[in-house]
Amino acid sequence: TKENGSNGYSFFSESMLDNKFKNIAIENELRYAIDHNQISVYLQPKYNMVNGELIGAESLARWNHCTQGMIAPNIFIPLAEEIGEIDRLEKNMIKEVCGILSTWKKKGKRIHQTSINISLPTLLHDGFINFVSHTLVENKIDGTFLEFEITERIVMKYEVEVNSRLQQLRNMGIEISIDDFGTGYSSLSYLYKLEVDRLKIDKMFVDQCVENSEVVSTIISMAKALGLQVIAEGVEDEDQIRILKKLGCIEAQGFYFSRPVPHGEFEQLLEEYSTA
Ligand code: C2E
Ligand code: CA
Ligand code: CA
Ligand code: CA
Repeated sequence: TKENGSNGYSFFSESMLDNKFKNIAIENELRYAIDHNQISVYLQPKYNMVNGELIGAESLARWNHCTQGMIAPNIFIPLAEEIGEIDRLEKNMIKEVCGILSTWKKKGKRIHQTSINISLPTLLHDGFINFVSHTLVENKIDGTFLEFEITERIVMKYEVEVNSRLQQLRNMGIEISIDDFGTGYSSLSYLYKLEVDRLKIDKMFVDQCVENSEVVSTIISMAKALGLQVIAEGVEDEDQIRILKKLGCIEAQGFYFSRPVPHGEFEQLLEEYSTA
């Protein structure tokens, strides 16, 4: 319920994570959860703001805990990184997403590009590229139906290794976007050399765009100049949509359109859109 936590989920409080004994217990529970499919995929639709079409989805991890209920990723993703389990978690997300897309395909539904958040340890993990291509083949899904979202922080750090991995993924047809774009305080020169397709404007700038549209406007023109696509995240109202469209941003996701939903609910969105 809404009162319980920042994202409307009950969650392990910060103070609980400070407690050493509780912490070890939580770590073990998280390992168990990753091994036993207790981390599930929620999907948030992405839309074309000009024609209103559903164009894709972002997959977001949820921990369905047996006693704590749904736990938000802001709590367990950093923990998974800390204990070295993030690559297993994200590989499971990739498997789940490909499985869901494959099921819809078999049912004759129209499938859309779905993005997955990928962290640095996962991207650089030995065998990651093989794992991805194998998972695509196994599920008979074309690489163009996947997009990987990586944060600006990742891109700034390990330029050469990261870029070669990104190139291999793009060779499979997978698109790459830079998540939370604009929050990394980096020099922008890296964008010229980088193997990416899209910038994802961080919610922070979307929040401000009605009062001050300068940052959003700059990001959109920069994307245009570099031949990159652009999407706005965290869109919550019509004023924001009006400004973003005026500035030439076409794609968006946010609570205005839909919250992230379980895949069964997303399937109904697909239905509504195909009969509309
Ligand atoms: P993110 O990648 O920036 O994902 C967007 C977050 O913003 C999601 O929160 C989503 O529910 C929320 N959001 C979307 N639209 C709106 C809106 O209009 N208003 C507001 N207030 N919020 C909106 P969520 O699902 O709690 O995820 C939080 C973060 O957890 C994600 O931020 C991402 O960094 C991380 N995360 C989730 N799943 C994974 C994963 O599998 N791997 C990694 N590395 N990170 C993940
Ligand atoms: Ca993301
Ligand atoms: Ca984001
Ligand atoms: Ca964000």
